[in-house]
Amino acid sequence: MIKTIIFLFIVGLIITGILINPILVRRRRNRLKNRPFPPLWNAIIENNLPIYPCLSPDELRRLQGHVQVFLAEKQFIGCRGLQVTEEMKLTLAAIACLLLLNERGQYFPRLRSILVYPNAYFVEERTSIGNYVVEERRVARLGESWTTDQLVVSWEQVKLDSTNWRDGHNVVLHEFAHQLDQEDGKAEGVPILQRNSDYPIWAKVMTEAYQQLCNDVLQGVKTVIDSYGATNTAEFFAVATETFFEKPHQLLSKHPALYEQLQRYYQLDPVLWA
Ligand SMILES: [Zn+2]
Repeated sequence: MIKTIIFLFIVGLIITGILINPILVRRRRNRLKNRPFPPLWNAIIENNLPIYPCLSPDELRRLQGHVQVFLAEKQFIGCRGLQVTEEMKLTLAAIACLLLLNERGQYFPRLRSILVYPNAYFVEERTSIGNYVVEERRVARLGESWTTDQLVVSWEQVKLDSTNWRDGHNVVLHEFAHQLDQEDGKAEGVPILQRNSDYPIWAKVMTEAYQQLCNDVLQGVKTVIDSYGATNTAEFFAVATETFFEKPHQLLSKHPALYEQLQRYYQLDPVLWA
């Protein structure tokens, strides 16, 4: 009898938690979004996100709200002695939240910590050559996104990208696009789409664009999407996202179907920000 009561009590607690927790989270986030946005923060973001002044008043308000939530929920860790400044946090938050501007209110749910290195960092990489030989080498990296709960960036690269917004390269957009892709636990270039009926057309358009990029790279043809996107379908989604935000006109004219899929997914039209 006592065991049954305890069991029912625990089940009750779990059900209440499942039902109430999302409501509490939404309320807390709404409170954060409604906080006044300090003018100094605006100045910092404007300095490091060149398209910030191009956003509509409504988009600006939403981005500022997302930044408040992001800063409250994510942890920033300085690596190799780096002191994480307000400028670093705001810049990373603003660029990352561009991807969520019109999204469904999820804030990279798997991600807990952002590791910031002062510049490129080195990792040991092991590659199998044939059946018996493993090559080990030290490689420099500018950023990476893990399926667990961390993301890494080089601050030097973030600053460099912010001064070259139209070159199609942005380490923050790239790594956070990986986070969206990895939201379902898999990195394969397919983020969680709004409706089940969206997947077939996404798969068709993405596969065709990916194969075209692979062919172009093989033949040495210069493309609007960086050749790194030909590495695999996960990298293709991340690189296509960088191109969508930084070279929207070129992407729309060369790959209209791909642009349309990204426009539907992000519910944004960066062509309007030019
Ligand atoms: Zn990548």
